[in-house]
Amino acid sequence: ATEEDRFAELHPRSAELADKARGPLLAGVPMPWMTRWPGRFPLFFESASGARLTDVDGLEYVDLCLGDTGAMTGHGLPQVADAIAARARTGITTMLPSADAVWVGEELARRFGLPSWQLAMSATDANRFVLRFARHLTGRPRIAVMDWCYHGTVDETLAVLDGDRVVPRPGALGPQVPVAETTAVVPFNDLDALDRRLAEGDVACLLMEPALTNIGIVLPDPGYLDGVREVTRRHDVLLVIDETHTLCAGPGGATAAWGLEPDFVVVGKPIGGGIPCAAYGMSAAVADRLSGPMLGHEIDVAGVGGTLTGNALALAAIKATLSSFLREEDFAVAIPLAERFTDGVAGVIAEHGLPWHVQRLGCRAEYWFCPPPRDGAAAAAAVDEELEGLLHLWCLNRGVLLTPFHNMALFSPHHTADDVDRHTEVFGEAIRALL
Ligand code: PLP
Repeated sequence: ATEEDRFAELHPRSAELADKARGPLLAGVPMPWMTRWPGRFPLFFESASGARLTDVDGLEYVDLCLGDTGAMTGHGLPQVADAIAARARTGITTMLPSADAVWVGEELARRFGLPSWQLAMSATDANRFVLRFARHLTGRPRIAVMDWCYHGTVDETLAVLDGDRVVPRPGALGPQVPVAETTAVVPFNDLDALDRRLAEGDVACLLMEPALTNIGIVLPDPGYLDGVREVTRRHDVLLVIDETHTLCAGPGGATAAWGLEPDFVVVGKPIGGGIPCAAYGMSAAVADRLSGPMLGHEIDVAGVGGTLTGNALALAAIKATLSSFLREEDFAVAIPLAERFTDGVAGVIAEHGLPWHVQRLGCRAEYWFCPPPRDGAAAAAAVDEELEGLLHLWCLNRGVLLTPFHNMALFSPHHTADDVDRHTEVFGEAIRALL
């Protein structure tokens, strides 16, 4: 209650806006996730620059959320802003490609090792398109996903395991699509379960993150991803790697960092420096089977693409982002900051003798209130929303923003060692005060 009161005292202007917003906006926010922040009402932000965010009450924060990876590069980047402004003045949406499309395709091909690319408006969009292509290519109806995965608001992916049964994800709005008929769900890090399920012969593709990142960070066991590739190939199932969040592993995501060989890769929000966009790449074998028929209009591509897809603004933003940020040299700055974070948090955990753990993937890190889980169900069981909410509010009241779901922190080259240490200090104070 004290922290809630402190939050309310610190943010009179946000409180006023939140009050007004309840009229014109459903639940007072433009997007439902914005209700998930700690505090009685959402903060309204005024501006964000680099690794800093300032709210409408003039308070400044070290931003460790970075738009849940949508601003993985940091905020308000001049190169991206200039490219966006220039493109806005010279035309955005024409249904024709701009020259930047060629640069973007070549750069993504170089980074991810897949030769052929398409654009989408969001990672949700890209995943939906890839699933359609996978069904078209295999003639099989079902998709497979990992238990407790998240791939955006794609209906068929909002499924979890209940024993052996595939059921709608808890909390999904209903009535849901009949996921037991559309989706196979397997536990992460369990090759035998994957092999058994794919042997049934009805699965078009396996859509997965190379490490789970949406139920906290759950890393693959050594050899697991090689096993996934072997099993999917043996059952003629296309492998789709969703790198939306795991781009934090490096410039070519986990695909390049770990030498994966997917049939499709989905790259999402970070690549446009905050502009809505995504892309998906495919292997030469897949592209050969799609490209000719598409150009000859033999495939009806209804259900793939959209009027604004591949617009010139998104392409200009991606080009500016990938040529100025998210490069090897940027990760070389951001990853050591994430390491400093894990060292600091691990030190506090050890000092207090807690059974907690801190996990890292590239420039993103996460702390768990338990030893690191190996699959999504164990990760979901480990979530303590009350403790999480208390910690986040404590940090927010002291100028540190964590991702509102789970205990995630993301580092850009704009963060400093002092930013990391500020979090460690605040985290240590929280443990002493709250436990
Ligand atoms: N795929 C993964 C792995 C994600 O984490 C997310 C969002 O967090 C998405 C897809 C969906 O991205 P968007 O909300 O931009 O459509």
